[in-house]
Amino acid sequence: PIILSQSALANRDSLTYPFEERGLQFGDGVYEVIRIYQGSYYLISEHVNRLFRSAEAIRIELPFSKQEITNLLHDLLIQNEMTSDGIVYLQATRGSAPRSHAFPADTPANVYAYIRDMPRKTEYLANGASTITLPDTRWMNCYIKSLNLLPNVLAKQEAQENEAYEAILEHEGKVTEGSSSNVFLVKGGKIYTHPATNSILHGCVRMRIEQFASDLDIAFIEQPFSAADIADADELFLSSSTSEVMPIIEVDGKEVADGLPGKITQKLQTAYEVDAGLVKQR
Ligand code: PLP
Repeated sequence: PIILSQSALANRDSLTYPFEERGLQFGDGVYEVIRIYQGSYYLISEHVNRLFRSAEAIRIELPFSKQEITNLLHDLLIQNEMTSDGIVYLQATRGSAPRSHAFPADTPANVYAYIRDMPRKTEYLANGASTITLPDTRWMNCYIKSLNLLPNVLAKQEAQENEAYEAILEHEGKVTEGSSSNVFLVKGGKIYTHPATNSILHGCVRMRIEQFASDLDIAFIEQPFSAADIADADELFLSSSTSEVMPIIEVDGKEVADGLPGKITQKLQTAYEVDAGLVKQR
């Protein structure tokens, strides 16, 4: 079923799936998290495009067009009388069928979405966040926003246990991304980040940052850096729909540069706030 066009806040607890649901049993599905500011979506077309890209990559047939799902998501805002800052979580799985690894025949996708409040992380955005580095133990198709998040869950838990905001993941000596964010290094006035290959999720905010950098005449270089490169970085930051453009001020207990949010990071934060309609153009 598509459980989307009703007030998810009111009906959240009444949503049930059978045991034999492929999202539950195999993580056989994809999802999106879209930011809502003051009752309006930010970057909705980018997220809807990625949803379709992810679904296509794992051969799930979505029961709607991009325009239809966009309309349903807008209806959901109205039904929830949404006027605050929040997110919508949307997930699509290969459906419910007797457990067997291969795709079930004639089984429609299960789709649901719900909205919830989520205030901006203003304290972290102003003061920066601390991080730890961990090995990236994920599979080789991280560009798919799949429900299989076990490595991400374990990494975030380890970060939390170390009083860190995020885990920065490293594979073969290169920083790929965070457990739920993209990661960027600033050195000599230039921004470096892992290229948008199969090794990372192509973040919607990452995509906007590339545009902000171009608008601000700051070089945006898709070239991986190592955890060791962080020792002489000028700035470090991460991005995601829920974390926005977040300064990183500490990695593995060591300060990044002077341990304060960097100048280019702050310029990108301002560009983000303007783009998202949070402040007027300065
Ligand atoms: N990388 C990973 C692994 C993520 O889970 C996310 C989002 O949660 C991101 C990057 C950032 O993506 P976006 O900017 O589209 O929110």
